[in-house]
Amino acid sequence: SNRIMLGPLVAAIDQGTSSTRFLVFNAKTAELLSHHQVEIKQSFPKEGWVEEDPKEILQSVYECMDRTCEKLTQLNIDISNIKAVGVTNQRETTLVWDKETGEPLYNAIVWLDLRTQSTVERLINKTPGRNKNHLKHKTGLPISTYFSAVKLRWLMDNVEKVHEAVLSHRAMFGTVDSWLIWCLTGGKKGGVHCTDVTNASRTMLFNIHTMDWDPELCKYFDIPMEILPKVRSSSEIYGLMNISSNLKSGPLTGVPISGCLGDQSAALVGQMCFKDGQAKNTYGTGCFLLKNVGTKPVMSDHGLLTTVAYKLGRDKPACYALEGSVAIAGAVVRWLKDNLGIIQTSTELEKLAADVGTSYGCYFVPAFSGLYAPYWEPSARGIICGLTQFTNRSHLAFAALEAVCFQTREILDAMNQDSGIHLSQLQVDGGMTSNRLLMQLQADILCIPVVKPSMPETTALGAAMAAGAAEGVSVWSLNPEDLTEVTSEKFEPQINPEESELRYARWKKAVQRAMNWET
Ligand code: ADP
Repeated sequence: SNRIMLGPLVAAIDQGTSSTRFLVFNAKTAELLSHHQVEIKQSFPKEGWVEEDPKEILQSVYECMDRTCEKLTQLNIDISNIKAVGVTNQRETTLVWDKETGEPLYNAIVWLDLRTQSTVERLINKTPGRNKNHLKHKTGLPISTYFSAVKLRWLMDNVEKVHEAVLSHRAMFGTVDSWLIWCLTGGKKGGVHCTDVTNASRTMLFNIHTMDWDPELCKYFDIPMEILPKVRSSSEIYGLMNISSNLKSGPLTGVPISGCLGDQSAALVGQMCFKDGQAKNTYGTGCFLLKNVGTKPVMSDHGLLTTVAYKLGRDKPACYALEGSVAIAGAVVRWLKDNLGIIQTSTELEKLAADVGTSYGCYFVPAFSGLYAPYWEPSARGIICGLTQFTNRSHLAFAALEAVCFQTREILDAMNQDSGIHLSQLQVDGGMTSNRLLMQLQADILCIPVVKPSMPETTALGAAMAAGAAEGVSVWSLNPEDLTEVTSEKFEPQINPEESELRYARWKKAVQRAMNWET
């Protein structure tokens, strides 16, 4: 037949907070050949709670794989050219399932969820000097609602089914990567229970120096180690796809799953930030700035996290990153749409904000889930201030976009203070970067250029690269010299630095008002 000859292809499952994607890349050129995306429902059963349905997450992966395989066939591209699959995922989101029935025992508790605030306060009160950084020397993280251990603790304390399954040795804990890999490699019929070092480093149970689960940390949170997945590198064969032959993606059965990285690590790889000092900022549901610091972990004095960036092969060294995490970025857009109804789609926001081109003195601190970096203040709550009779929804839209930029500025300032080295430009990616006004505002507020690659799916690309480069697959070179030149778009600062400083100073005042809201 007239099938197109392309050479090896590599696929990626990108399971994010807002949506799931499946994407297929040419391993020689990194060209994106086909993809499909499905939105994920989030439920908010109580104030501060955020959940997703593990089965819906899995179903969305199957749907994306099926539709992408269909599209490839229509393009005359043979599915059997797919040589490996990589997984990248929303991090920290916590699941427990029964290994005998294969059934989830509760909804996935999403990273943004605040239900563990009182648990966190109790733990911090217990530590010497009420120090939230009590476990930082091992984990690189402050004790916070954000990480998996406290979420798992909550599940074991509050969900009878989870409690029972742990007692009867039927419980499996995992972040979304583990859940998907276990299901896709056969589930209750021999699925592989594993995670990679980047995902493990966000649980608070993982020691980032020894690169393994830490018995003392597990004891601190009172978590039995037998329910934890096996920790592997980010690039090796974990298992083979095992998919029902009734599905369009059935032919993927037998293809190795050989890459696994938390979404922010995957974006760092996809942006080719392999050198010490290189950084990227991803604008999705939240916003995450990661800077590669090389093969030795660096601890921050300014509220940043130390995290495992990647370990691209069993015998390869681990690389670490300093990370500034912002809980609410794109989520504020979804809030304006779903809760206030001032826009119908997220793309409308840009026009609405551009209509006025200023917030007219209005500042919006979207501390819906407390404040993450650099404050780590779970009791902060969102505020909108500086309103006058004149303020309208366009100003509010503009203030929401500015909030994302100010939060990034705070992270960049913290990074600069930690290292004394200033970034000369910022590499960006993520769903929100399609908003050009946001990109321009970001350059204005940082006073440095913002550079966006023309292929926006860098997170998936990173996971596909890790999968294609794994030992035993080896269809993708990670050698920077062999990688195709990436084309990009650059946004230069257009306002003067004095104006930028003035606006930033007002933002800082607004943040102070959002802090310690309940006390
Ligand atoms: P995630 O990986 O967290 O699922 P994505 O990278 O897919 O997120 O980005 C989706 C987020 O970006 C959503 O929160 C959405 O509200 C926001 N978003 C998407 N397009 C735009 C846009 N044009 N302007 C502003 N926000 C946008």
